[in-house]
Amino acid sequence: MSKKKAPVVKNQEFEGPVIDLTYDGNGVVKYEDFPVFVTNAVPGETVRVGITKVTSNYAFGRVVKRLVESPDRNPAIKGNTVISGVAPLAHLTYEAQLKHKQKQVADVLQKQHIKAEVAPTIGMDQPVGYRNKAQIPTRLINGELTTGFYRRGSHRLVPMEDFYIQDPAIDAAIVTVRDILRKYHIEPYDETAHKGIVRTIMVRRGYYSHEMMIVLVTRAKKLPLAPMIINDIHEALPEVVSIVQNVNQEKTNVIMGTQNKVLFGQGTIKDQLLGKTFAIGPNSFYQVNPQMTEVVYQLAAQKADLQPDDVVIDAYSGIGTIALSIADQVKEVLGVEIVPGAISDAKRNADLNGIKNVSFTLNNAEDQMVAWQAEGLQPDVIFVDPPRKGLTNEFITAATQMTPERIVYISCNPATLARDAVQLMEAGYHIKGNVQPIDQFPQTTHVETVTVFEKA
Ligand code: SAH
Repeated sequence: MSKKKAPVVKNQEFEGPVIDLTYDGNGVVKYEDFPVFVTNAVPGETVRVGITKVTSNYAFGRVVKRLVESPDRNPAIKGNTVISGVAPLAHLTYEAQLKHKQKQVADVLQKQHIKAEVAPTIGMDQPVGYRNKAQIPTRLINGELTTGFYRRGSHRLVPMEDFYIQDPAIDAAIVTVRDILRKYHIEPYDETAHKGIVRTIMVRRGYYSHEMMIVLVTRAKKLPLAPMIINDIHEALPEVVSIVQNVNQEKTNVIMGTQNKVLFGQGTIKDQLLGKTFAIGPNSFYQVNPQMTEVVYQLAAQKADLQPDDVVIDAYSGIGTIALSIADQVKEVLGVEIVPGAISDAKRNADLNGIKNVSFTLNNAEDQMVAWQAEGLQPDVIFVDPPRKGLTNEFITAATQMTPERIVYISCNPATLARDAVQLMEAGYHIKGNVQPIDQFPQTTHVETVTVFEKA
């Protein structure tokens, strides 16, 4: 088979209309029939494109000149916000972002031939400054420890102080900690040489509690001048109730290591969701947009049509937030989760809230579903909230063989939701009502949905 030849070459320029937006926020401009993915180009615009990279099936480009501007462009956004990868959709108006997310869900479902109505995306009133967690890399730039964010698709640090989507109190804390590290000449991480001390500054802040945790992720086991650094952070940031050193000695893109040393205060911070209190450790998954998480959980619980005698499974339970927020509406909830720290947080959270009808099992969710099925467990409702890769065949087989009335699927990846939906439907379940996208991650390309599968 002869290899197709691309009709464009690098550095070539041409003009055309932007006809679509890809899932990762690039505008699509066609050269004849050949698709070119263009950064910072919005459907409805006409642009002069400069080709930056060519493959046999498509090319990438940049906007050399914007000839016609789209009404969907957010005129307030310039420069670093779009290129940094922090807010890759910020160049679209919020309304256009919400429509884009709805369309994306509809498109992937259609590709799998699933007929389901996709509701308009539920958005935030204030879609900025919402993130309760920051993981900010540190690098040496112009001889100084610098904080910022990676340029899209690379590991080149773009210096930044305003991260736009993060809680402004967190942005301010990052700058404060950066300046303290500069003051004590703490070496930032050098990725190429695998040298230096501090790799990442992680900050989490409770939305309701305002309790703050600072985690310094270090390559080295020892953090030089730790007592001084701790003292300065404590003095400068009165909200800080926990300072943790997390050691990650590996040559890896994984941000956090497994070893934590509590340097100051407690090992967790507390926050509230739907009136329940949660203690959150440094390694535990905790939803980054607490306001919208409450919307997701409420909607999921409502769609689940929970009854007082229901036995419910919360698969991928994290620190137990779903299980504990629905516990008082049902007879019993069984959670399963793979991260040991999250399971211990979940158990503690049950105690903190005086909730007795929940239990949490440390296991791979797939294996635990098979084990529960073998034990003859008959849940009425199963909540699933898997990571981006979605469910596995084993999980779906075990879950559907337990014949729950409903499976409530909270998904952070429409593509795997659509794939899993095909299997759930083959196993005798159908989509009840519509698929509901909820904007948990404004200004970014991430899409969250709630879908209920009901036994036919
Ligand atoms: N429901 C929780 C967590 C959802 S995030 C919440 O709303 O906060 C997905 C969770 O799945 C994470 O806590 C992650 O640690 C966990 N996880 C990832 N792979 C898993 C697996 N194979 N089995 C069980 N849990 C898993």
